[in-house]
Amino acid sequence: MPDTIYFDNAATTRVSDEVFEAMTPFLKEAYGNPSSVYRAAREAKNAVEKAREQVAAAIGAKPAEIFFTGSGTEASNWAIISAAESYRGKGNHIITSNFEHHAVLNTCKYLEKHGFEVTYLPVDKFGLISLEDLKNAIRPETILISIMYANNEIGTVQSVAEIGAVAGANDIIFHTDAVQAVGHLPVNVVKDCIDMLSLSAHKIHGPKGVGALYVRSGVKLPSFIHGGSQEKGRRAGTENVAGIVGLGVAAQLAAEKMEEEMKEVRRLRDKILDGILKTVPDSQINGHREKRLPGNVSVSFDYVEGESILLMLDMKGIAASSGSACTSGSLNPSHVLMALGMPHEKAHGSLRVSVGRYNTEEEADKLIAEIGPIVQKLRDMSPLSGR
Ligand code: PLP
Repeated sequence: MPDTIYFDNAATTRVSDEVFEAMTPFLKEAYGNPSSVYRAAREAKNAVEKAREQVAAAIGAKPAEIFFTGSGTEASNWAIISAAESYRGKGNHIITSNFEHHAVLNTCKYLEKHGFEVTYLPVDKFGLISLEDLKNAIRPETILISIMYANNEIGTVQSVAEIGAVAGANDIIFHTDAVQAVGHLPVNVVKDCIDMLSLSAHKIHGPKGVGALYVRSGVKLPSFIHGGSQEKGRRAGTENVAGIVGLGVAAQLAAEKMEEEMKEVRRLRDKILDGILKTVPDSQINGHREKRLPGNVSVSFDYVEGESILLMLDMKGIAASSGSACTSGSLNPSHVLMALGMPHEKAHGSLRVSVGRYNTEEEADKLIAEIGPIVQKLRDMSPLSGR
């Protein structure tokens, strides 16, 4: 997308040159099946194991605790369904929040149809769950707590280590969807008391269609895809070798560059956030100002539709995202913004700008300069605005 100013890094990211270069030999030269016995196959097998080490190191895990998947979504499905199956003997109660990604929410809904009870904890106006609510929701039959590390829409970062400590003290498995956090925050499964964690390559300049599930040794993990003996017989199917290699390199690079890179990403984020709030009247920040992903700008504007802002930004060559999801022709406000207690009209007027590794000062300046006139133009056309 050479002519696009890309501010949608929470949706997906550009594959970095280093990742691309690391992947290509496994498509063109060392394309052997890792389960075969000859040299080209051994090379592929070794590359998968190296990637396992790289992913493990990026989150403070052991390589044997990493299982590759086809996406972050698959990792969360696997974590939640396997915990439900494995610990059913102890109970049938799961705790999550009402503003998780659909990968978690819809898996919990699926389990509700199969005899599980799910408590959906509310969040406050910043998107934070309360530890008191969490403790009060725990029952003797609670087997799993699944709370996301950082929210993809509004960027709120939970107090994960404290949630993990509550889960551990009550002998309950703690899973976290860390798809937006890994590579952006110093995630450490040991310090954060995490039993299971989902991550995805394409949010950290790796390829799409590959993710990983971390499972602490000692936690039960039944097979999710039945067939061959790949991934210790737990997830059958010939490995996506190039994708896995890409994930490994992306995870390593993100971990190595994190401190320096996130300082710059955070600076651009704050510049955009302050620039918008200062230049656009009746605009508000969504989420928490400090407990926030380094690259997340989420704001809502009164009297306008987020979708219209996106279309006008697109005409200016800027790609961003709104908090709304357009489902089969009807525009539903995002469940995340509704969970914050936002009225419908406000939730419809939301914009998410997600800053990443390749964004520049000039791009931030251009975005700030365009937003004000766009919002004003839309308000001028809106019968609701009164401005
Ligand atoms: N969880 C969160 C918080 C996400 O932001 C996303 C992607 O948007 C996912 C899960 C899904 O990841 P994947 O696209 O790898 O399935």
